[in-house]
Amino acid sequence: MQNFLPPESSRYKVDGRITKEHNRMRVTEHLYVYLWDNPRENNCNSIFIDGKVPLLIDPGHHQHVPDLFSRMIKDGLDPNSIMAVICTHAHPDHFEGTLAFRNTRAKIAISQQEEKFIETVGRPMYTQQGMTMPDYRVDFYLAQGDLLLGKHEFQVLLTPGHSPGGICLYWPRYKLLISGDVIFMQSVGRVDLPGGNAKALRESIDRLSRLPVELVIPGHGSAIQGAQTVQRNFQFVRKAFLNRP
Ligand SMILES: [Zn+2]
Repeated sequence: MQNFLPPESSRYKVDGRITKEHNRMRVTEHLYVYLWDNPRENNCNSIFIDGKVPLLIDPGHHQHVPDLFSRMIKDGLDPNSIMAVICTHAHPDHFEGTLAFRNTRAKIAISQQEEKFIETVGRPMYTQQGMTMPDYRVDFYLAQGDLLLGKHEFQVLLTPGHSPGGICLYWPRYKLLISGDVIFMQSVGRVDLPGGNAKALRESIDRLSRLPVELVIPGHGSAIQGAQTVQRNFQFVRKAFLNRP
């Protein structure tokens, strides 16, 4: 959750691999990014990765899941095919939508630290925002290290700071970083919410900045594309938000 509003959408093109229409990016034949760009309502970007284990990352708010599904169907994708749902963290605007998968075969995953967090301090956050904590289900935990889904090899990076058990997902094959609410285009995740920790966020961002990354898909706002642009963005946020040289 953060207040950053995406700028007017622009056309994407990176190495000829990305096309963007109607706030949907297709990066390779596997990866579809559904950017949220309605400034009147808060919700997160969602990512679908096709393959042997069709994967949805961050389904968003529950009430917006039908909209996400209809965008997927327009792209010729079948939401019923989803077998795994990964949440970068358990704030309502990323995690609440897992409710839509309660009675499906999809396996739902967050980190164990994040489940502990929602069971303790996380619940009041939902109440404060006028929501009841969803009757959620977690089927497997994400831990620091490799994650193999079908033929796709990812790395799970524990990145606390915005949320105690937040994770980022790195896909070495495409030098792609799915950064949740840790880092955005010219901004970083809030640390004033329950469980937030500025020092931990700084350390998480330092670790991410050392990865070879060519594309960042953050939890909100625009994608950050190109190795140089990604590095410039890390430098910018370190200076502007983290008191780092
Ligand atoms: Zn958040």
